Amino acid sequence: MPHTPDVVVIGSGINGASCAFQLASRGLDVAVLERDVAPAMGSTGKSAAGVRVQFTTEANIRLSLYSLPVFREFESRYGRDIGYRPIGYLLLVPEDRWERHLESVALQKRLGAPVEVLDPHEAQRYVSFEPTGLAGATFGPWDGVIDPHMACLAWVEMARELGVHFRMRTPVTAIRRLGDGWLVSSGNESWSCGHVVNVAGAWSGQVGRLAGLDVPVGPKRIQIFLSAPHADPRTYPLTIDLSTGVYLRSEGDRVLFGLDNLQQPFGFTEGVDQEWLEHVLLTGVDRYPWWEEMAVDLRGSWWGYYGVSPDNSPLIGFHPDAEHWIDACGFSGHGIMHSPACGVAVAELVADGRTSTVNVDHFSHDRFDKGVAVEANIF
Ligand SMILES: Cc1cc2nc3c(=O)[nH]c(=O)nc-3n(C[C@H](O)[C@H](O)[C@H](O)COP(=O)(O)OP(=O)(O)OC[C@H]3O[C@@H](n4cnc5c(N)ncnc54)[C@H](O)[C@@H]3O)c2cc1C
Repeated sequence: MPHTPDVVVIGSGINGASCAFQLASRGLDVAVLERDVAPAMGSTGKSAAGVRVQFTTEANIRLSLYSLPVFREFESRYGRDIGYRPIGYLLLVPEDRWERHLESVALQKRLGAPVEVLDPHEAQRYVSFEPTGLAGATFGPWDGVIDPHMACLAWVEMARELGVHFRMRTPVTAIRRLGDGWLVSSGNESWSCGHVVNVAGAWSGQVGRLAGLDVPVGPKRIQIFLSAPHADPRTYPLTIDLSTGVYLRSEGDRVLFGLDNLQQPFGFTEGVDQEWLEHVLLTGVDRYPWWEEMAVDLRGSWWGYYGVSPDNSPLIGFHPDAEHWIDACGFSGHGIMHSPACGVAVAELVADGRTSTVNVDHFSHDRFDKGVAVEANIF
């Protein structure tokens, strides 16, 4: 592995792999350093795999409008299956959010996103629920799921074919300035490079600190639960009850479900919390009365980390306190779906000094406390 690449990418999750592929497509020499034994072992391997266009801010809708067609056409463009299934996202909207929700739907449609507005009765064709308190529902027919492992490994392979070097079991332990660029070290081994790309997910704040930089991204534990086999021939879309936040979707013949714990303290908390499972079931059963009969498979449940920023939206851009350092992290629950846009934006920042395909100004480091619109559809 050469030790003087143009770019060192730290982290080999879905965003590191997407960045590596796009950087190499621009003719750059790239080394990816990953502390784990294989790609996709961080949050990428733990996600609910959902991809959607139904956001409330123009910036996020545009990231999705770039990214979803990449997933939809991945096989025809690159000859690789990434498990894209357009099962849809179904948002169940309570009366007090309906007007605001329709404003976002108008924005999504104006920007070119396909979204259908349904009354609660029509929405029942997708999944059974108790409609009390709901004004309506929206369905995104492009939305659905991909297989994040397959997508990450596809980009790793495609990047390797373009000459990118991936090094596993290589935790970055020290970073310092070297001339205009950086010296990145793992134990006794070092790489000198022009640019560093910090795509270390929930660990990006730690990586920033190695270089003396404040990257305001930290970990938050998120849990996902799985039912035992469930008899319904329908494939449930990724359905979110916006009155409680409880979500579910089909996973084979089972139901995958969860709820973001807003009280969850930040930090690398481990394990599945059974009290939270009970809370999710009790919160969800009013909307989905069939949960009374649904058995839970605890062995099929799991947990992982969101990398979160102060406003739950990502940081994508140059660090204000250090030249040639780019962060692409803090994606909370959107790092799978926005990975195509992340890769192309990072490659343009490195190669051209600015982006032209997707605008990432909204995700700059200096946006906080400046009245920038905050995304409301964070799940
Ligand atoms: C339960 C759950 C459900 C989710 N559901 C969705 C969803 O439905 N849709 C969606 O879009 N997103 C979802 N997400 C979020 C999504 O998983 C993440 O945003 C995404 O995986 C981030 O990818 P990444 O490549 O940026 O980070 P990661 O996949 O976490 O990769 C970062 C990598 O950096 C490595 N690393 C860390 N420190 C170092 C170091 N010092 N040196 C070298 N390597 C290092 C790690 O080992 C890791 O492999 C979910 C997340 C969780 C936990």
